[in-house]
Amino acid sequence: MQICFASHNENKVKEMNAIMPNGIAIVGLKDLGIEDEIEETGDTLEENSRIKAEFVFKKNSIPVFADDSGLLVNALGGEPGVYSARYAGPEKNDEKNMDLLLDRISHHLDRSAEFQTVITYINAAGDAIQFKGSIEGTITNEKKGNNGFGYDPIFQPLGYKETFAELAQEEKNKISHRAKAVHNLLEYLQKTHG
Ligand code: IMP
Repeated sequence: MQICFASHNENKVKEMNAIMPNGIAIVGLKDLGIEDEIEETGDTLEENSRIKAEFVFKKNSIPVFADDSGLLVNALGGEPGVYSARYAGPEKNDEKNMDLLLDRISHHLDRSAEFQTVITYINAAGDAIQFKGSIEGTITNEKKGNNGFGYDPIFQPLGYKETFAELAQEEKNKISHRAKAVHNLLEYLQKTHG
């Protein structure tokens, strides 16, 4: 069976295809001829991943899943959360986002934070099911490491001395919020299609 992963990023689609159980083929938005930039108008990760999945399902009634992730900082009431990509402005600049976060948290003693991913899967019947993954950690005082993307240089996962950006990609991919959410989706798909 075919499942759409609601992403324009062909590398992400390829990666997802590689880990799917036998009998499930992943197609990306490009494969379905969907070029629209899906607007993320929700206030939560749950809403945004659902908006993306529903957008695709309405256009093309095949099973589909979409993910949405963000960094939630406790001392900042869960900021930047759903606004992680555009925290410092619409240009989605990682350096500016991290600088703003380091500035806003500088007066707080509590530097605990959590990365979260929510995946919404819509099956052939149109039912939506959500899967979550998270990882706790702390926000460092300065940027460290060159791997990864986004807030990786200032996020140190619990139990590690390195930031996400100092860990090898394979290491991060074993423990990340995204990996856990995908694992939960995979478990479900294996049970229902395996
Ligand atoms: P997306 O939903 O995966 O596109 O993530 C939204 C934003 O959250 C990204 O643009 C990053 O700013 C941040 N983010 C999500 N996951 C990660 C991660 O694994 N490392 C660092 N930043 C992340």
